[in-house]
Amino acid sequence: MAKMMRAVQVSRAGGPFEIVERPIPEPGPGAVRIRVEACGICHSDTLTKDGSWPGLKYPRLPGHEVAGVIDAVGAGTPRLEEGQRVGVGWSGGYCGHCAHCRRGDFFACVTQEITGITRDGGYGDYLVAAASAVAVLPADLPATDAAPLMCAGITTFNALRHSGARPGDLVAVLGLGGLGHLAVQYAAKMGFRAVGIARGRDKEPLAKELGASAYIDSRGQDPAAALLEMGGAQVILATATAGEAMSAVQGGLAVNGTMMIVGAAHSLQVNPLLLLGGRRSIRGWASGTAIDSEDTLAFSARAGVRSMNEVFPLERAAEAYDRMMSGKARFRVVLQIER
Ligand SMILES: [Zn+2]
Ligand SMILES: [Zn+2]
Repeated sequence: MAKMMRAVQVSRAGGPFEIVERPIPEPGPGAVRIRVEACGICHSDTLTKDGSWPGLKYPRLPGHEVAGVIDAVGAGTPRLEEGQRVGVGWSGGYCGHCAHCRRGDFFACVTQEITGITRDGGYGDYLVAAASAVAVLPADLPATDAAPLMCAGITTFNALRHSGARPGDLVAVLGLGGLGHLAVQYAAKMGFRAVGIARGRDKEPLAKELGASAYIDSRGQDPAAALLEMGGAQVILATATAGEAMSAVQGGLAVNGTMMIVGAAHSLQVNPLLLLGGRRSIRGWASGTAIDSEDTLAFSARAGVRSMNEVFPLERAAEAYDRMMSGKARFRVVLQIER
């Protein structure tokens, strides 16, 4: 009989988290099995919980911020071996031969494999991952520190390093939550003049502590005007999920400035005159693939970028998820899987 593992599954759209026993999965060719040590809870886990991802099949284990240890390898995984400390993020792997992959746009692979959505994620003792989805972790990074970097970290790190900003440029981070508190640290450590923008004054000390050289309270003042007073932002990294907040800040872009959107807002009002008048642009950024995660983790470990986490045991996944949804967590919620 197959050995069993604990898992937290969702078995229908909008259904509750169920703690169940499942057979431990076996890795097929091109895949590895990971003994999960920690898994972050991301707002995108709602796609699995609510069933809003088209064609999602149940039951499904959510979780795309996985950190653990390889404990079995399938055939044809030359880069990976048992005992390696690894992580898996949003990208569930790529085929390597579709048109996007052949152009190097692996994130856009037509297979659209997504951890915790098209295949089981990290809300359990074990998961099987495609080798192309697996990032090797720095040796001394604890699993609960590594896990949130596999989505919140890579998303902000990768967007910033592809934003066109250069050392010394003014880079504003809109929203100081799970993504934003990491983005401010990355922006400062990359050598940008980091500015934090959030509603109210209470996050100002935190923003400064994370490395921001200035803070803008978007409730107390016009954030666009405040950015222009500082010379205009070369980049605004929009981590908030509110379209109005993004619209309100676009006027703070410098000439040739870019708003990089990583927050999944539903709609956004854009001023075309602002874009064409100053050659400004607005673009989106999706997290990245396993090699981008390795870069993120290596940079984070070296530069001392850390996620602030609230840690829960696997059995309390439902409570942990509610905590994430409340918006009150400071700042990422992480499941620690103990045995
Ligand atoms: Zn995520
Ligand atoms: Zn492909």
